[in-house]
Amino acid sequence: MAHYASRMKVTLVAHTPEPELACALAAKTCHAAKMPKGGMTREGMKRMLDIVISSGHTSVLEHASFTFAIEGVSRSLTHQLVRHRMASYSQQSQRHVKLKDFEYVIPPKIAGNPKASNMFRDEMARLSKVYGQLAEMGMPLEDARYVLPNAATSNIVVTMNARSLHNFFELRTCLRAQWEIRKLANLMLKEVQKTAPLLFEWAGPICKARGICLEGVTDCKFYQLYVKKKKSL
Ligand SMILES: Cc1cc2nc3c(=O)[nH]c(=O)nc-3n(C[C@H](O)[C@H](O)[C@H](O)COP(=O)(O)OP(=O)(O)OC[C@H]3O[C@@H](n4cnc5c(N)ncnc54)[C@H](O)[C@@H]3O)c2cc1C
Repeated sequence: MAHYASRMKVTLVAHTPEPELACALAAKTCHAAKMPKGGMTREGMKRMLDIVISSGHTSVLEHASFTFAIEGVSRSLTHQLVRHRMASYSQQSQRHVKLKDFEYVIPPKIAGNPKASNMFRDEMARLSKVYGQLAEMGMPLEDARYVLPNAATSNIVVTMNARSLHNFFELRTCLRAQWEIRKLANLMLKEVQKTAPLLFEWAGPICKARGICLEGVTDCKFYQLYVKKKKSL
């Protein structure tokens, strides 16, 4: 049976054409006597987007959407991911897909401890065997799957607009977020920063994006880097 500590794969499969222009034009429209026509310069877009993002006028960011294919993440992660309601999801079905010899994620701390790692792997092997036996006995997959663990991997497609992505990054690139969803958020952030740097230049944990920390963890390295630095300016 396969196991993965880092097989997570994130692909930005589609996005709004010219996402920066779509949002900048939307912002410009709010203060223009006539509908702005045509394109905008890069400097013009940057000016407009910096203003709306820093002032919290972020509804204009809803005009750009991004679709990610996410592979090889645990069900623990996808359960956390789908709590973000301002998004659309399509997830591999455990009712219809037979997960023979299912793949699973081993958390790094467990993988790094030989005793814990052996216990974990043995349990995965046992659950996989029971799942297979239940399926062979003719039990519906939708019932056999009740023995599958949170560690079992899944594939999911998610679409979020840029406003929702900012919220997602604020919460999930924070060092208080769990390691797996934090890794996912950082990979997604990297993708959108390549595609639409003007929209995501300041995206990241809330301390980086807004100079505040809602977690109150003052010994966090990000707190030292972003909140303390900002306060001392
Ligand atoms: C470190 C961490 C620990 C967590 N621990 C737990 C936990 O122990 N238990 C738990 O249940 N969850 C937990 N969560 C999940 C968390 O409570 C949120 O459900 C999740 O982060 C989604 O955030 P969101 O609601 O801002 O996102 P979205 O659902 O995408 O919503 C985006 C924004 O839209 C607005 N919005 C959306 N829906 C509504 C609504 N119905 N009414 C009003 N405004 C709305 C809000 O402004 C919201 O911020 C945790 C999250 C993090 C980051």
